[in-house]
Amino acid sequence: MTAQTRPDLASIPAYVPGRDRPGAVKLASNETTFGPLPAATKAITEAVELASRYPDNQSTQLRTALAKFLDVEVAHVAVGCGSVALCQELVQITCAAPTDEVLFAWRSFEAYPIVTQVGNATAVRVPLNSEFAHDFDAMAAAVTENTKLIFVCNPNNPTGTAVGEDELTRFLDAVPAHVLVVLDEAYYEYTRFPKENHPDGVELGRSRPNVVVLRTFSKAYGLAGLRVGYAVGDPEVITALMKVHIAFSVSRVAQAAAIASLEARHELLDRTDALVAERDRVRDALLAVGYQVPPSEANFVWLPLGERNTEFADASAEAGVLVRPYGVDGVRVTAGDPHENDLFLKFATSEETVARFVG
Ligand SMILES: *Cc1c(COP(=O)(O)O)cnc(C)c1O
Repeated sequence: MTAQTRPDLASIPAYVPGRDRPGAVKLASNETTFGPLPAATKAITEAVELASRYPDNQSTQLRTALAKFLDVEVAHVAVGCGSVALCQELVQITCAAPTDEVLFAWRSFEAYPIVTQVGNATAVRVPLNSEFAHDFDAMAAAVTENTKLIFVCNPNNPTGTAVGEDELTRFLDAVPAHVLVVLDEAYYEYTRFPKENHPDGVELGRSRPNVVVLRTFSKAYGLAGLRVGYAVGDPEVITALMKVHIAFSVSRVAQAAAIASLEARHELLDRTDALVAERDRVRDALLAVGYQVPPSEANFVWLPLGERNTEFADASAEAGVLVRPYGVDGVRVTAGDPHENDLFLKFATSEETVARFVG
């Protein structure tokens, strides 16, 4: 007889990883195409030598480096096994009863409903507006006395839309101070707002103890395979996060690579300019042949093709490019290297594809 597990797990949506297929170009997981910098590889190699030893469970050196970089005290920084782990830990530190609510836009990051249900709380999804962006009025109106946590994904995965500081500030002002608001800034490094409206959660959080910011080394910093992200927020929130942290879940290799990458950030961040140019080039080319493509501030674009999403993704895979369909909502296409993007555009803008999917 199979041992009993929680019956409610049956209804948890299984995490669907980005597709993979040998030989195909993969534009399905928002990864960086570059390998780690030589300095990171060196730090990784050195850290591996100590693989028989447990890592520093507090990630003290990495947290200290992050605190310096962000101009905050170390007590304001927590590290997690990817920011996905921090998402789950944030539910764990805020929700204690099944009636406790976690509020987020939908569609947004696929991990939010999963970590909410794993944490035995109730997910409240607020539909995106007609521009595929957060509907902050509706989200503020959806806050109840049971709301414990709000995820705001800015820029939003998978639609790419982002809001500036002004809109974000208005929303934060509308949320009761006892509700924790998570600003998930996994794609922060790809945003290009005018300086005066730049949405920087760390800055917004300085005067707001109920704001916590998530960033990651997985995207612009190119360390998706090593699993390290971080949270910046009020020391009480950070202390709570460290209590529920799975012990030693951020490896020594991950910590060392993150420190080296942070030190070499100028080199990494310079690359984001080229990526942003590619993203815009892909979007412009798609718009030119008639696709609807919301403006993106991330390293991907969104094609809302409704009922045809899966068909489009399958046809793209046939053409050698893996992209990611999301139910009937849309298809997410990561901006990759120029030659990869060219291959995707060759497929997407061909007469045949346009005739099939546009209009
Ligand atoms: C990719 C992504 C993350 C980062 O996940 P890691 O666990 O740090 O790899 C977090 N939030 C969103 C919205 C993402 O798209």
